[in-house]
This record gives sequence, C-alpha cells and structure tokens, in this order.
Amino acid sequence: MFTDQKSLKWLLTQTKEHSGRLWRWVNKFREFQCRVHHIAGSKNTVADVLSRVQGVKADTHKACSLDFVRKQQDSCPTLSKIKFLLASKATPPENVDNMELKFFYKELPKLSVGKDCIFRHSCSDDPGSEQIVIPQNLTSRALQMMHDKLGHFRTAMTSARVKERFFWPSMSLNIEQWCRNCLPCQKRKNLVPSRRAPLHPIVTRRPGELVTIEF
Ligand SMILES: [Zn+2]
Repeated sequence: MFTDQKSLKWLLTQTKEHSGRLWRWVNKFREFQCRVHHIAGSKNTVADVLSRVQGVKADTHKACSLDFVRKQQDSCPTLSKIKFLLASKATPPENVDNMELKFFYKELPKLSVGKDCIFRHSCSDDPGSEQIVIPQNLTSRALQMMHDKLGHFRTAMTSARVKERFFWPSMSLNIEQWCRNCLPCQKRKNLVPSRRAPLHPIVTRRPGELVTIEF
C-alpha cells in the first residue's frame, strides 16, 4: 500500500508499547496483509486525482443528462403541467387538491424553461445557480449519484451537493433519510471495536464442582 500518511508507517514499525487507542488501530490494521510504503504527497498524484470531484461530476452528468431528464419531465403528469404553464405564462388555478402541484405553483416565480427543460433558480443574485427540477422517479438515482458514488459524505455535505444540481419537493427530508439508511455509512460508524471481551458461560454438571471467589 502506498500512502502519504507517514504516521501510519511509523505506527506499524514501532516496537515499543503504544497507548490503548493506538494498539487498537494496530490490531485493526493487522487484519489486512499488506506492506506500507510512504510516498510524498506531491508525488501521490493518483490518490490526488481521486480526491477531485470534477472527474466524477462529468460521469454523473452523463448518467443524468439533460435529454434524459427532459424526457422524464415530459412523462411526469405534474411537471408536464408546470412546463405548459411556464411556456404559456398562464395563471395557475387557485384551488388545487394535488399537494405536489400546489408546491410547484408556489415555486413558479423561481422556475423557468431552458433547453426545453424546467430549471429552478435557487439564488436570484447568481444567474448560474440553476437546479434541474426532477420528477419523483429520478430522486433515488440522483441520491445514488451524489451520495453513494461521490464517497458517502455526511448529510450536510450530501445535501449541499444535491442542491447544487437538483430540485424536487421534500428533498431535504429525502436526503436525510437516504444518508441515515445508507448501509455503508452505518457500517463505517462502528469502526471502534468493543472494549468488552465476549462472555463465555461456565457449564457445570453437579453441585460443588466449581467454586468461585469474587474479590
Ligand atoms: Zn452512505
């Protein structure tokens, strides 16, 4: 393994006793069979590239292209109505039972149609801050791209990344639930091993076979 974490190499070559915390890390690391080689951060270009989001963004853009989203918007009953409304500049009806439609009617001042696609301007001062409005059936795909494929960031970071690009009703709640229910994230939280040794029951066959003293 090549790493620019010099401290990791130091940790595994030290023979003197570590503190309890460091020993737990050493023990955890010994589960893997590999040698650690130090490489200077400036020369570790491969890892550096992986840390850059730009390359990954290009892929996600391809997987959720405007063409694809446009087709999905057109086949969504709610968004197709919104698109028609925006194109005709008509006034939305006042009494609507559909909650999703009601939500989008409130958002109408921020919505516009560009390249035959519905966008939302999240910030009026920044004309470049456009979010693509996506139908409900694409929300899982968007969350998968922006959370699972971009490195399982925490809820706040995932939320910021999703909101940079997409928009749909109840998105904050959906993002929070997605991150909370994500299995790899849950597994990563339990990295610290248990400090208690497992219990082994003592089995006896007759009275007086085993005498124990507690002190
Ligand atoms: Zn995750």
